[in-house]
Amino acid sequence: MFDKILIANRGEIALRVQRACRELGIKTVAVYSEADRDAKYVKLADESVCIGPAPSAKSYLSIPSVISAAEVTDAQAIHPGYGFLSENADFAERVEQSGFVFIGPRAETIRLMGDKVSAKDAMKKAGVPCVPGSEGALPDDPAEIIKTAKRVGYPVIIKAAGGGGGRGMRVVHTEAALLNAVSMTKAEAQSAFGNPMVYMEKFLENPRHIEIQILADQHGNAVFLGDRDCSMQRRHQKIIEEAPSPLLPERLRDRIGERCAEACRKIKYRGAGTFEFLYENGEFYFIEMNTRLQVEHTVTEMITGIDLVQQQIFVAAGEKLPFRQRDIELRGHAIECRINAEDPYNFVPSPGFINRFHMPGGPGVRMDTHVYGGYTVPPHYDSMIGKLITHGATREQAIARMRVALSELYVEGIKTNVALHADLMADLAFQQGGTSIHYLENKLGIASK
Ligand code: ADP
Repeated sequence: MFDKILIANRGEIALRVQRACRELGIKTVAVYSEADRDAKYVKLADESVCIGPAPSAKSYLSIPSVISAAEVTDAQAIHPGYGFLSENADFAERVEQSGFVFIGPRAETIRLMGDKVSAKDAMKKAGVPCVPGSEGALPDDPAEIIKTAKRVGYPVIIKAAGGGGGRGMRVVHTEAALLNAVSMTKAEAQSAFGNPMVYMEKFLENPRHIEIQILADQHGNAVFLGDRDCSMQRRHQKIIEEAPSPLLPERLRDRIGERCAEACRKIKYRGAGTFEFLYENGEFYFIEMNTRLQVEHTVTEMITGIDLVQQQIFVAAGEKLPFRQRDIELRGHAIECRINAEDPYNFVPSPGFINRFHMPGGPGVRMDTHVYGGYTVPPHYDSMIGKLITHGATREQAIARMRVALSELYVEGIKTNVALHADLMADLAFQQGGTSIHYLENKLGIASK
C-alpha cells in the first residue's frame, strides 16, 4: 500500500479524497493555488505545496507544477479527483513516466474514451447499445451530412468528439439549419477543445440520464455498483442525482450493468468509471464513459456501503477487488443535491465571503463540503461548494430527509441554490420519479440550447 498520496485537486473532492487516505493511514499532500492558500483541508493535509496563482491554467491544470510537487514531497501516487487533469491522458502518462502511480485508468484508456467518437466505436464493438447516429465523425461533404441526418431522422444533435461538461452540443430540427449548425459546432469545438471533429446523434426527446458505476481491478475482475439517475439537469449539467433510478426495472438495470462490466473486462479497464446512457422507452443508449470518480459517486456509496475512493486506491496499488458481483447489495435510496454558490433561478455565480454556515445533520444525512463560516468562495473555479446527500430505506424517506436537511442548511453571505432544491423536493413530478432530462428546463421556462 502507498505511504503518501498527492491529491491533484481542490475543494470538496480534495477533502473527500483526503478523508479516504487518512482513514487508511496514508499520508496526504495537498496542492493549492494562491486563491486556496487558507483552505482548511490544505491545513489538514500532512504536507502542502503551492502550485501557482489562482487561474487554474497556471495551477491545477499545470502538469509540470503537479509533478514537481509530487517529486519534492516524495508522494508515491497521485489522485486526480474529477475535473481539472482527471481525464487528461497526457497527464496520466507523465505521472507514470515520472515514476508515480496514477490513481485511475491507463493513459491509453483515457485517450480512447476521451474521444467520444472512438469511445462509441469501442462500445459498439463491446456490445453496448449506442444512440443511433453518424458512423464515426461527420465528413466535410455537405451532401453526406444531409444524407446522414435524413437517415438518422430529425431532430438531431451535433456533438463535439472532444466535448465535455455539457458544452459543444447543438440541436438541429430542420435540414435548413443543419449545415450552419455543423460549422458552428465545429468552430466552437476547435476553440474550446482543440479538436474540430463533430458527430451526429438522434436527439432523444424524452430520455432520462441513467448511468452505471463500475469498478475494475488489474487482474481482469470488473463489477458494477448499481445505477444512478441524473436526469435533473440544466444546460446539460446535473444538479440532482439519485440511486437507484426510480421506476427502472431491476432486470433491465442488471442486464445493462453486466454489459458494462463485460466491456470493462474487454478493454482491460482499471479503476472506477461510469458508463452514461440515455434511457427511453425501455432502451438504453450509451453516450459516453467517464474514466474517473464522479461528483455523484456519493449516492452509490450510500446504497452499497462501499467507499469508492478507497477502492480506487486499492486497485491502483494492484490489489484484487474484495468482492464479486453477487456480494454487492443495494440498500435503500440515496439522493444528492449539488449546492452551488449561485442565484437559484438565474444561475449567476455568487462567490464571496461566507460569514455564517450551518450544516445539517441527523440520521441518513451526509454533507461533503470544504466550506465553513469565515470561508471565502473564490471566483476562479466551479461554483459548487458542496454536496448534500441523504439516504433512506425508501425514496420517500430519502426525499423527506432531504427536505429537512435543506431547511437546516444555512449559508449567510453568498447566494446558493438551496431554494431551487427545496422547490424540486416538493415537486410532484419529481416525487413520482422518472422525469426526463428536459424536465427542469421546461419547469423553469428555459429553452434547451
Ligand atoms: P458531456 O460530456 O458534455 O457531459 P454527454 O454526451 O454526456 O456530454 O451529454 C450530456 C447531456 O446532454 C446528457 O445527459 C443529455 O442531457 C444531453 N444529450 C447528449 N446527447 C443527447 C442526445 N442524443 N439526445 C438528447 N440529449 C442528449
